[in-house]
Amino acid sequence: MARTVRLNKAHYPVTTLGPGRRIGLWLQGCPLACPGCVSQDTWAGSDDQVLPLPLLLAWCQEVALTGLDGVTISGGEPFAQPEALLALLEALRDWREVTGLNFDVLCYSGLPWRRLQQEFAPILALLDAIIPEPFQAQRPTRLIWRGSANQPLIPLSPLGQERYAPYLALDVERRPFQVVVDHERVWGIGIPGPGDLARLEQRCIERGLELGGLSWRG
Ligand code: SF4
Repeated sequence: MARTVRLNKAHYPVTTLGPGRRIGLWLQGCPLACPGCVSQDTWAGSDDQVLPLPLLLAWCQEVALTGLDGVTISGGEPFAQPEALLALLEALRDWREVTGLNFDVLCYSGLPWRRLQQEFAPILALLDAIIPEPFQAQRPTRLIWRGSANQPLIPLSPLGQERYAPYLALDVERRPFQVVVDHERVWGIGIPGPGDLARLEQRCIERGLELGGLSWRG
């Protein structure tokens, strides 16, 4: 069983990628290179971003003390490291069972739904909901939590059915978008709407921030 995971970043609370207050985990590495991807910093499968799973779980358990509604796993392409993803999901399942916490697990993937069903059934069995299919920049959408109109929100468990049913076709005029600053990075969490990233860039410049690499420009 994998004991490590390649991780780009983790954040709590995330309120823009699934219902409630959530842990967000962005796995590092994506071979899909969707045109228009805003997360190009997650593409490289670099080994310097390897984290022991027990360390990641300990962090999750610590932040969850203030309340946890869900875990959202994104990337990068989470299914590009299937052993690590499976081990992470098993650990989350065990934690949920032992503590009785009622959090759901939502996962994004740029892989087609049919392929996920054919190749990754054991992983799907550990998820409550998934948003699959590659991002298509030419098909904008106002569907909540979706990057493009081809991406369905699919509940996969009874908890997922219960929690995500109100959101399957929910259309929002303005999608929520969080901005997080750590000591060396500014990043947006959520699905950016038209002009959101240009506004973020402009606000950073106005505040005297010298921007290095931008993840939405390759
Ligand atoms: S949109 Fe997602 S799946 Fe597509 S290239 Fe970017 S990180 Fe990969």
